[in-house]
Amino acid sequence: MWHEERLFINGELRDADGGATFDNINPATEEVIGVSADASQQDFDDAIAAARSAFDLGDWSTDVSLRVRCLEQLHDALQNHVEELSALTVAEVGATQMACSSIQVVEPLKIIPFYIDVAQNYEWHADLGISETLGGECQRWVEKEPVGVLAAITPWNVPNQINLAKIIPALAAGCSVVLKPAPDTPWTGLALGKLIAEHTDFPPGVINIVTASDPAAGSILTTDDRVDMISFTGSTETGKKVMEAASGNITKVFLELGGKSALIVLDDVEDFSMVAATAAFGMATVCGQGCALSTRLLLPHSRYEEAVEAIVNMMGAVPPGDPSDAGTMMGPLISARQRDRVERYVQSAIDEGAKVVCGGKRPKGFDRGFFYEPTLITDVDNSMTVAQEEIFGPVLVAIPFDDDDDAIRIANDSIYGLSGAVFSGDDQRAISVAKRVRTGTMSINGGVWYGADVPFGGYKQSGIGREMGVAGFEEHLETKAFSKPT
Ligand code: NAD
Repeated sequence: MWHEERLFINGELRDADGGATFDNINPATEEVIGVSADASQQDFDDAIAAARSAFDLGDWSTDVSLRVRCLEQLHDALQNHVEELSALTVAEVGATQMACSSIQVVEPLKIIPFYIDVAQNYEWHADLGISETLGGECQRWVEKEPVGVLAAITPWNVPNQINLAKIIPALAAGCSVVLKPAPDTPWTGLALGKLIAEHTDFPPGVINIVTASDPAAGSILTTDDRVDMISFTGSTETGKKVMEAASGNITKVFLELGGKSALIVLDDVEDFSMVAATAAFGMATVCGQGCALSTRLLLPHSRYEEAVEAIVNMMGAVPPGDPSDAGTMMGPLISARQRDRVERYVQSAIDEGAKVVCGGKRPKGFDRGFFYEPTLITDVDNSMTVAQEEIFGPVLVAIPFDDDDDAIRIANDSIYGLSGAVFSGDDQRAISVAKRVRTGTMSINGGVWYGADVPFGGYKQSGIGREMGVAGFEEHLETKAFSKPT
């Protein structure tokens, strides 16, 4: 299979210092598909040093046309390798082919032309005019500059999307980057190094990609004073550690963390087919391993049974299967560790008095692979563990509410604030409910908010900052004010 297993540091594909490697496991078959370089502390140190020199000594931070040329070359290279990258993503992530033709591979490539355009048209310089302040007449202006060296740390669930959403706006802004992908998905990260090395003019050190078997190996990136900004996507628990580590140097942090988003169904919904499809396909598409998925289903008491029945029927139509089969809509979880976690949460729901009405077990007919059935749990109170904690698996919990105010109260009764959805027979009523939910994105009656131009991020413990959109570009800029006498 087309792949890259070497680190990409200072413009070179190279083995880890000492030659260590670790296994890459296909979650659908549990087979070892190959190995990846297992970086040492020296490799991380080399990567940070290379990024620092590229930023401080090269043209990257100041030459927009160089950045545009390199990003265009990378985009072309990715477009020319969509099939290879998709096959790799099926094997490494357990992503279905359908997901690869959208969120797992094809859609994320659109991030690149979007940021090329932003970099070319951005107002890097703003004139503030002349002012007589403190007795002197001065001409003032503001310039935007790249933040510097970015450490990007990413998870395994939608690695192409998250790797590109992290590195592309940073590179377009003029930063240099060290990317550290998750240990479960090293090849999707290293593939970028291969394409950059073989098909682009990126100057050495502008982008470095370092993989390691120890999940916390990247912690050096969070404490090193040569790093100017840490962009982290992962669990809230790890995000807190990153923020604490960054406080040593007051390093800027950008955090995309967990979620427990609510899908609110108002009592005037005419038919439940769209609700059921959203709920069931949400659990199927990335096997429930999506931070922004709606995993709490808020239903009016008056329509509870009707909605549950529609969703159970729809979940039955998306059974897990071999992700390399073109017709499969739901693949496996990423690892045995993740499946154990899902099983523990489902058991906790039963122990706390809830009912599993669909799924809740490993599917029959698979003797290998980390598969789990799409699961609906009813009789859930929002204080239960399964309603409060992020499961990160195909488990939806159904919570009844009294009226719109009660639904909003329950939706907001969470440490998270990432996303959500409202369904209603009346768009305006849905929008007024959505405005009162404290999250970074909301879907109205099935609206799709995802897109390169749409800022994405969380309130509360779901994160700090916005990725994607112009806001995601500006996260990587510093603002410098100038003044001179007239
Ligand atoms: P994780 O927090 O375990 O790991 C994320 C990354 O951090 C990995 O690369 C890991 O190796 C690294 N890491 C682990 N410990 C570290 C440390 N001490 N210092 C520095 N880096 C460290 O998360 P995960 O299991 O890979 O991914 C699942 C989580 O990611 C879920 O909570 C999910 O909600 C979240 N997520 C959030 C978004 C978002 O945009 N908000 C997107 C996808 C996933």
